[in-house]
Amino acid sequence: MSSLFSFWLELRIILITFFIVLIVLPILAMLMLTNFGFQAVSDKLVSVNPKTHTVEIHNLNGTITMITGDMVWPVSGVVTLEFGQPDPPYQPLHTGIDIANPVGKQGDPIHPFMKGTVIYSGEDLSGYGKHVIIDHGHNITSLYGHMSALNTKVGATVNTNNVIGYEGETGNATGPHVHFQINVYGIPVNPRTFLTGNP
Ligand SMILES: [Zn+2]
Repeated sequence: MSSLFSFWLELRIILITFFIVLIVLPILAMLMLTNFGFQAVSDKLVSVNPKTHTVEIHNLNGTITMITGDMVWPVSGVVTLEFGQPDPPYQPLHTGIDIANPVGKQGDPIHPFMKGTVIYSGEDLSGYGKHVIIDHGHNITSLYGHMSALNTKVGATVNTNNVIGYEGETGNATGPHVHFQINVYGIPVNPRTFLTGNP
């Protein structure tokens, strides 16, 4: 009887060990590698010059464009999810930064992070709810998701003083926040490369 019991115990230890080594560790390793890769791709596309502290876009033809002008956080609040962190069940890795209001209230005004032209203002099935996309030139675009209301239209020229919409929770959102994303060549990059401090 006791030898049968110890057999089951040993079998359970072996099965648990297999589960950890063959299933859990590879998933953790994959998440760490893809997260690392995501930031590495971001760094290949855009970086900050260590001497001049200017944001530099690395063009596909090998040249570098220095980005100048005002850059601001689109809203003030608390970062609830950073770029590149796992974001189940919506995204394997988060393509932007989520900024939530500390008191969770809706309706805070959202500003463009830098000047540009509005290329999308509406709501579709992307999960971003009511959102705005701005073209900043130099192959840089930015997206502001989950708005409670839109306050701009396609073709509008906007700068950091303009209000393009209001914080909300439309689309795939579990509370009022702004999903703030910057793309370079259509590829999500870390907004923190462009902006210092915290929102
Ligand atoms: Zn988000």
